[in-house]
Amino acid sequence: VHLDLLGNPSSGGNCYLLAAADTSILIDAGLAWSSQRELGIDFTVPHLTAEQARASAIVITHPHEDHIGALAYLLDQMPSIPRILCGPVTADILRLRLAETKHAVTPEVVAPYAWTRERGIRLQMLPVPHSASESMALYLEVDGKRILYSGDLRGSDDTGYGHLPAKALAEHSGVDLLMLEAVRADVNEPDPTLADLKEGLLAALNRLEGRRVIFSAFASNITRIQIVIELAASIGRECFLLGRSMHKTVEIAKQFSRMPARGWTLGPPPKDAPNGKTLLVVAGAQGEPDAGLSRLIRGHYPVQARRGDGLIMSSTPIPGNEEPFWSLVEMAMQKGVEVLTYRDYLVHLSGHSTAAELQRIMRLTKPQWVVPFHGDYYRHQLMQELGSRAGISPKRFVVAANGDRVTLTKEKPQVRNMDFTVDSYQLGKGRQRTAALIEPDTVDERRRMLRAGTVILRGGHRGASVESLNPSDEVRALIDGARDRKVANAELKRQLLRLPSPPVVVDVG
Ligand SMILES: [Zn+2]
Repeated sequence: VHLDLLGNPSSGGNCYLLAAADTSILIDAGLAWSSQRELGIDFTVPHLTAEQARASAIVITHPHEDHIGALAYLLDQMPSIPRILCGPVTADILRLRLAETKHAVTPEVVAPYAWTRERGIRLQMLPVPHSASESMALYLEVDGKRILYSGDLRGSDDTGYGHLPAKALAEHSGVDLLMLEAVRADVNEPDPTLADLKEGLLAALNRLEGRRVIFSAFASNITRIQIVIELAASIGRECFLLGRSMHKTVEIAKQFSRMPARGWTLGPPPKDAPNGKTLLVVAGAQGEPDAGLSRLIRGHYPVQARRGDGLIMSSTPIPGNEEPFWSLVEMAMQKGVEVLTYRDYLVHLSGHSTAAELQRIMRLTKPQWVVPFHGDYYRHQLMQELGSRAGISPKRFVVAANGDRVTLTKEKPQVRNMDFTVDSYQLGKGRQRTAALIEPDTVDERRRMLRAGTVILRGGHRGASVESLNPSDEVRALIDGARDRKVANAELKRQLLRLPSPPVVVDVG
C-alpha cells in the first residue's frame, strides 16, 4: 500500500493517491494558487503519471479550491471517468461546476458514517467542523491497513462549524496511519468562539458606519454568510450577494434550508441604494485573482469598489498565500477603500485546528504513524512536539511533502521522492473564463528569460549582430568577451547554452 503526495511542492494543493495491489483512488483534487506569478502562472494542478491516471475513484472531502479546484483538469488526464464520491453539499457544488466543463459526471453522495467500497478499499466519511459548508474526514481500510485522513478540520466544538465526531474518531483509534493537517500547528493561544466572532463582526460594521460595506468570505462558508446577513439586518443593512459562486452557494443553502428568510438579495444593489444601508457580499477573500472580490476591486465587474467604501476581509491568508491576499488589500486601500482584516477586528474564525485541538485529535486517534500535511516544514516539525504532548513519540512522525511517495510497510513507512510534477495554468483574461495550459517548455523559457535574459543573434550579409534583453552578469560578460575576440555567433550560441543558467537564445539567422 502506498500514498502519493501530489500537488505543488512549493505552494500546495491537496491531492493524494492511495494505491494497493489491485486498486487505486485519488483523495481530493486541489489546485494550488501559484507562487510564480512572475512567470505568468496563476495556478498549478497535479500532472498524473499513467498509473495514477488509472485511479477508479476520486473521493472529495470538502468544497474548497485547494481540495476541488483541480478536479476537471484531473478528469482531462484520466483515460476513463472515475467515480466521484463525496458528501451531499459537496456533490451539489461539484455537479454545478462540472456541468460547465465537458465532464458531465454526477458525483455519488456518500452519507456520513455510511460504509462504501471501491474495489479493495473500504471507506467511511466522518463529518468534521471546518470553514466550508461541509467537510469530511476519511477513514479507509485497504490490505489490512487502517488509514485516517483528516481533511481540513477544527478540533473544537464552539465555532459554529459543527462538532468533532469524537466518538467516531475514538472508535477508529490505533489507526496505522493518520494524515493530519498542520495549517495552524503554530497557534498556541485558545481560539475565540462563535459569540466572539459575532461581536467582532459587529464592531467592524459599526466602525464602517455610514459607508457602503463590501464583505468578503469563502462562498462555501454558508454559516459565515448566514451570520453576516443576520448581523447586517440587525443594524438596518440589506445584503447584496454578488458573483457566480455566491449564486451557487445560495442555491445550495436554500436546498438545505440554511438561508435566512429576509435581509438579502441576489445581484447588485439598485443605483440609489443608500451607502450606510448597503452591504455587498462577495467571494474571493484569499485574493484569488479570478474571484469576485479581486474583479470588483480591479474594476472588472458590474459593481465596482469606490472611494469611501469599507471592506471586511473575513478570512486569514492560507499559509503560502499571503502575497495575493495582501496585494489585494493594498490595491483596495489605494482606491480609497477602508479595509478591515483579521489584524484589526475579530472578523474570521479559522476552519483549522490550533495546537491544543491537534493534540486532542491525536489523543483520540492514537495513531501508529503520523504524516502531517497542509502547511510547511516548520509546522510539520511543530506537530512532533504536539504529538509528544499527546503521548506520541516523535519517532512516529513521517516527514513527507508533495512529490513524495509514502509506502506502508511492517515497520516505519518509507518515504521516497518521486518528483511528481504539476501542470501550470494561466487564467483567462477579462470575460474569458477558461484557463490555458502553459507548456513546460514555455515555463522553462520564461524562467530562463527572468534569470538570465534573452539574447538575439542575427547573421546576415551585412555582418552579424548580438542584442540582449535583461542579461545576467554572466551572459553580459560572455557577450562582451565574444565581441572583443570576434567569436562567431554560432560559437557564442553554444557557449551561452552551456552556461549553468542559460538565457533564451533567439537565432534569427
Ligand atoms: Zn478547507
